[in-house]
This record gives sequence, structure tokens and C-alpha cells, in this order.
Amino acid sequence: FSRLKAGLSRSSSKLGDGIGSIFTKRKLDDESIEELEELLITSDLGVATSARLATSLAKTRFDKDVDPLEVRESLAAEIEKILEPVALPLEPDRSNAPHVILMVGVNGSGKTTTIGKLASHYKSQGLKVMMAAGDTFRAAAIEQLQIWGERTGCPVVAKATGADAAGLAYEAIERARSEKADVLLIDTAGRLHNKSDLMAELQKVLRVIRKLDATAPHDIVLVLDATTGQNALSQIGTFKELVDISGLVVTKLDGSARGGILVALAEKYGLPVHAIGVGESAEDLRPFTARDFSRSLMG
Ligand code: GDP
Repeated sequence: FSRLKAGLSRSSSKLGDGIGSIFTKRKLDDESIEELEELLITSDLGVATSARLATSLAKTRFDKDVDPLEVRESLAAEIEKILEPVALPLEPDRSNAPHVILMVGVNGSGKTTTIGKLASHYKSQGLKVMMAAGDTFRAAAIEQLQIWGERTGCPVVAKATGADAAGLAYEAIERARSEKADVLLIDTAGRLHNKSDLMAELQKVLRVIRKLDATAPHDIVLVLDATTGQNALSQIGTFKELVDISGLVVTKLDGSARGGILVALAEKYGLPVHAIGVGESAEDLRPFTARDFSRSLMG
């Protein structure tokens, strides 16, 4: 919890300080409510949600003196209710062996890093983990995954840059089966400037995976960079057209004051949020829990 709180410090100081300056020695009146709504909107919670949260606060406390702590606690409780249904950890089903997780997202969103962090997490739970360097376009992505392989002691299936990603996925599943891996994490390329190319590539990878196991991939996780704010929201829409996204991981919450984006995406899409990234090391992938997150967000 304290690590999460530290990771979200930029978001929480924006919201906490903002609420502090609005409600110190002030009544909850039309003007202060409007200022609160504005603060929530600029903190990325989304226009409709911000209005709703402000209104619900006004309903119970209108014309009363409120202190910032009261406002923060009340908002945290409302936000917790919004996040509760989407806070779902990504738990591989051992009986799938291998449980195949396909990671998608635009370049730079944190896919490769998140795969490494998940590998480390699952390994510490005693699962046998394998990774596949499916972003075959970028040498850096392949090398980065190999570094995570060394760091975690989990095997990485990789080929030279430019290799066929679907062929690599095929080999990875065969190897995961023969080595009896519990989890296989597959990286993918994310060049969004050419949507039809990306779709063709992802579809091909999916076809090959399903040829070997009709139930796979068991999860298709979209990785989003929180620092891109509203852009992260629109990426969900774009990727939903390409593949059947089953859940999300939101990264780089440590580097921005945009933690509110989790509230907006929970409201808009209702997709499970499996985990959040608050730094670059393995232990910086935190479970996403509604209570801890909403409390950390509100300072
Ligand atoms: P990919 O292109 O989607 O595979 O993205 P990468 O995994 O290569 O990540 C891009 C950059 O973001 C790298 O420098 C990562 O170390 C960094 N990164 C990933 N997740 C986080 C995070 O949660 N917090 C911070 N601060 N940096 C992150």
C-alpha cells in the first residue's frame, strides 16, 4: 500500500492539494462544487464522472461547512465503488498449461516491461513461466525481453529481428508445452501508424495460436501508458476493433498526475484492470485494488 501511495504521489498531490485549496474555510456551495468538478476533469476522471461525483457530494453536504479531508474521503468512497467491478487480478489457470497471455499495445506503452514484471511475479508464486519475444520488428524489444529472461531466470523464445511473429508464437507454444510451462507470455509489435498492418499481424498470430489450442490465448491484455492521458482511452477503442481485449494493465502511473484515468476507463469500458505500473522494476507492478487505489489517489 505504501509503495502504491508513493507511486501515485503525483496524482494524489494534484487532487489532494486541489481539494485542500478549494475547501479550506469554505462551504460546499455552487461555486466550490463547480471548482471541484473542474479539478476532477483536469485530473482525467472524465467529464460525466466528474459531474456525477461532484453532484453526489453536493446532495449530502450542500450548504454545510466541509473540510478537505471529508471531501477526499467521500470521493474516495465513491471512486472505490466505480473501480470495484473492474479490479480483477490476472491469474493464470494452471490447467491450461500453458496459460497463454498475449500482450498488445502501442510501442512504448510498457508491454515488454510488463511481461518481465509478470514473469517475475508468477515465478515467485511457483509457476513455470516462459516468454516469447513476439515484437520481432524491434531489436531493442527482443534484447529487453532477453534481459528480463536473465533477470527472472525464465526462458525466452526469440528469433532474429524481422522473423515472422506468428511462426515465433507457434514455436513458443510448442516449446511451452514440451517444457510443461504453466504460463506463456507473448509480446507483440505495436506500430499503430498503420492500423490495417497491425490488424493483419495480430490476426495472423491469433490464428496460429488457435490452431494449436482453440481456447488460447486465454487472455489478451492491452497495456496503456497513463502519461498519455485521454489518448490511452482512445487506444482502448482502437484496439478493441483489432482484437478481443480481455483486460488492461496501466503503466507509468509514477510518472504522471493522471491516475484519474483509471476511473474514466473503468466507467467507459468496464474492462478488467489487472495491475498497474508504478516504476520500472519488477516489484513496481502493483495489484489493482479498488480500495487501495482510490485511497491513494485521494491522498
Ligand atoms: P513497449 O514498447 O510497449 O514494449 O514498452 P517498454 O516495455 O519497452 O517500455 C517503454 C519504457 O517505459 C521503458 O523505458 C520502460 O522501462 C518504461 N516503463 C514501463 N513501465 C513503466 C512504469 O510503470 N513506470 C515507469 N516510470 N516507466 C515504465
